[in-house]
Amino acid sequence: MSIDEPSTVSCAAPETEQVLSVAEAQQRILSSLPPLTAQETVGLYDSLGRITAHAVRAPRDVPPFDNSAMDGYALRGTDLPAEGERELRIVGTVLAGKPYDRVVDAGECVRIMTGGVLPEGTDSVIMQENVIRYDDIAVIRAGHKTGEHVRHAGEDIAQHDSVIAAGKRLGPADLGVLASLGFTHCEVLRRPRVAYFSTGDELRPVGEPLSTGCLYDSSRYTLYGLLQQLGVIPIDLGIVPDQRQALRDTLLRAAAEADVVVSTGGVSVGEADFVRDTLGAVGEIHFWRVGMKPGRPFAFGRIKRTWFFGLPGNPVSTMVTFLQFVQPALRHLMGEQRTQTYRLRVPCVSPLNKTPGRMEFQRGILESDADGHAVVRSTGMQGSAILSSMSKANCFIVLPAACGDLPAGALVEVQIFTLL
Ligand code: AMP
Ligand code: MG
Repeated sequence: MSIDEPSTVSCAAPETEQVLSVAEAQQRILSSLPPLTAQETVGLYDSLGRITAHAVRAPRDVPPFDNSAMDGYALRGTDLPAEGERELRIVGTVLAGKPYDRVVDAGECVRIMTGGVLPEGTDSVIMQENVIRYDDIAVIRAGHKTGEHVRHAGEDIAQHDSVIAAGKRLGPADLGVLASLGFTHCEVLRRPRVAYFSTGDELRPVGEPLSTGCLYDSSRYTLYGLLQQLGVIPIDLGIVPDQRQALRDTLLRAAAEADVVVSTGGVSVGEADFVRDTLGAVGEIHFWRVGMKPGRPFAFGRIKRTWFFGLPGNPVSTMVTFLQFVQPALRHLMGEQRTQTYRLRVPCVSPLNKTPGRMEFQRGILESDADGHAVVRSTGMQGSAILSSMSKANCFIVLPAACGDLPAGALVEVQIFTLL
């Protein structure tokens, strides 16, 4: 580790420095960041993963007309026999997109396919499996109800309904809903620009040979993935050496280009003052100890109008602090209503080791057991440098500060990684 100037300030956080809980740190961050308000209009394909700028109201009914839910025969409910059977004359055929243009009278019916417009006069559909047909005669038995197998206009979405809320991350079904309403475009919120870089003299970019004591910079790739998945505009600022001037230049460049800047490394005990000094010179820095494992310490602040997150360098700590602090903050900044991923309580089939004192985010695999019940198991070794644990995991096992070792079968809280 080489830092170009010696630090005069103690590296460790002072004993008196307050240790924040994860919830307090999250709350402080969220209350600092006002959501972006600038809007843009994008085509439907480009709206996937974007955040709605306002609630979407339905300009029309979906479906737009009463139609058949089955392949069968459309008829008048008043023609249904109360007992025995009844013969109706088949007067036509309705295919999806090919309506029947006359009124169906009493004693008549039409052959109709799923999605076909219910002809005027009819109000019920009898499944073809329940009808006996001779030439143009359909024999209907007793036991059917008026209104059977009909999908009514507006039963999915009624005209003027607010069908998609403001601040919603648009998923595949939302694109379909927008298309079903005839929208070609959608108004969404601007995507924040997020610059990110790794710090460390030991880091090498992939594609270069490794000399003794060096390792490949993995965190820039995980950060890229996390940012891309969130739908922000990632700006890769590369690897920055452990030098004040280089860090200072990078931070100022990031502040000029981005809404948010995320760094990794150089905030752990031993380098804390390096980060504090450099950031203090160009912006405003809140250096926190958060009662969590992995992940402390962690820095948050701003440089001019750009928000800054300084994440710890151990690759698992980088991901944990990103997911606990940066991701909710970015979702909030993006105008998304939901900022946290889902949490649920399930039994853990592995015994867990934990020392009471800090909240822990252990890596878990949520799956179903032989009976189809949700359970979680540990990914194994939990060190903050075991990045493969994050690769295996699909959730965190969130253990409260006071919790100690847990036997197999204990009920635990898991936080799943998926955004929606
Ligand atoms: P630091 O927080 O800078 O003291 O880094 C803590 C540990 O994480 C050290 O062992 C670093 O080599 C390692 N580390 C820091 N940044 C990265 C990175 N981008 N990729 C892989 N390992 C890293
Ligand atoms: Mg470092």
